[in-house]
Amino acid sequence: MGGSVGIVGGGAAGMMAAITAARQGADVTLIEGNDRLGRKLLSTGSGKCNLGNEKLGMEEYYTGRPELLEDCLRRFGTADTISFFQGIGLRLKSRNGYLYPACEQAAAVLDVLRYEIRELGVIAVTDCKITQIETERNRKGIRLKGSGRKFTFDRVILACGGQAAPKTGSDGSGYLLAGQLGHSLIPVIPALVQLKCREEYFKAVAGVRADAELSVYWQGNCLARERGELQLTDYGISGIAVFQLSHIVNRLLSKERCMEAEHSLKAGKSMEVEVRINLLPDCSSEDFERLCAQRASLKGMRTVEEFFTGMIHKKLVLLFIKLAGLRPTEEICKAEEKKIRQVYRLCRQWSVHVTGSNSFDNAQVCAGGVPLDEVTDSLESKKAPGVYFAGEILDVDGRCGGYNLQWAWCSGYLTGRAAAENSN
Ligand SMILES: Cc1cc2nc3c(=O)[nH]c(=O)nc-3n(C[C@H](O)[C@H](O)[C@H](O)COP(=O)(O)OP(=O)(O)OC[C@H]3O[C@@H](n4cnc5c(N)ncnc54)[C@H](O)[C@@H]3O)c2cc1C
Repeated sequence: MGGSVGIVGGGAAGMMAAITAARQGADVTLIEGNDRLGRKLLSTGSGKCNLGNEKLGMEEYYTGRPELLEDCLRRFGTADTISFFQGIGLRLKSRNGYLYPACEQAAAVLDVLRYEIRELGVIAVTDCKITQIETERNRKGIRLKGSGRKFTFDRVILACGGQAAPKTGSDGSGYLLAGQLGHSLIPVIPALVQLKCREEYFKAVAGVRADAELSVYWQGNCLARERGELQLTDYGISGIAVFQLSHIVNRLLSKERCMEAEHSLKAGKSMEVEVRINLLPDCSSEDFERLCAQRASLKGMRTVEEFFTGMIHKKLVLLFIKLAGLRPTEEICKAEEKKIRQVYRLCRQWSVHVTGSNSFDNAQVCAGGVPLDEVTDSLESKKAPGVYFAGEILDVDGRCGGYNLQWAWCSGYLTGRAAAENSN
């Protein structure tokens, strides 16, 4: 022990790696492009930082090599995250299994990490963007260059993040460093992000929030389903349920775009994914039939709009009345039965067509990255031994719920430990 470890990227994974390597006795330098460490951490969990989850399972993650991810999470799981943070003085609380600092301030998470880094004597170099990495075998050490500075270390950990929320510093430059070492890249796409829809009527329903069940349909098959909050915007759909589905939808769209480019498919072919929205998710088919029959007794003197009052949000009632070919002011008694049934149907199966998503600027994470096939069990590069990868730069992304930070802590810990052990 006692060799030098250089870490590129002072985010969640990089700070965890620095603390772990320093605790193992390595001389650690943490290099960060921003003027301070951990900027992204401050905006996590809407400023409260959902740093882990008591329910940790593989179904919460996407990766090309699940068995390695599973093994890593077994070596550093939720219990380890809890004892690590409690060990550096942070009180935690659980809300339905979602872990937060007890004071509900992300800044507290960053502060305890910074105090520990300082106390362990880690050298933190800020305002330094690394742009070059070299590992030729005939020269000693791994060399880093950037922002007019040069460094040489026995071991290097690349913890540069992906390219989600680039204003926080993770602008994709880590992928370029990985490329210099000969690594390939699983195409990177935004995830945990809002989705844009083809339908032009969204402006009329913007601002609506509802509990809904969303199903992703592709070539007639249901590929994923999610229940949770839906938010409607003037361009499409947002909310937790949409974020959870955004990985799969964006992956389908990017695959289709690649196929189109490869096969020069006819221009004009629509590239979109269907999402079916059920705004009455607690209503079984039988309950729904009963509800429709009961409401028939309300027909009386009401208008179409009055008849549907209270079924779902008023803005959506008005939209569905229009889509069914009815007028809100016409008398319900005179309205065509099949059009009334169509309004009901739309409440349970409103089909919208996703054409893309918001950009990396709005995404919480990146899907894709350096493939896990190109690293060893200790996340060391197979192309450039001595270099390790931690955090979002790797092809691992999680669902909302603290899973991405859990991966950052886990991979930071494992690489910090392995790099320190092998740095002599
Ligand atoms: C708005 C928002 C909310 C989120 N909320 C949650 C949440 O509540 N729970 C959860 O689990 N996850 C959440 N996430 C995701 C989570 O923050 C990330 O997955 C996690 O921070 C990734 O950690 P990382 O260390 O790999 O990368 P990052 O945190 O992105 O850190 C990478 C660091 O490397 C630096 N860097 C990059 N390139 C270089 C270079 N070439 N030279 C020097 N430095 C460099 C960057 O400046 C940055 O500081 C959220 C993300 C966002 C954007």
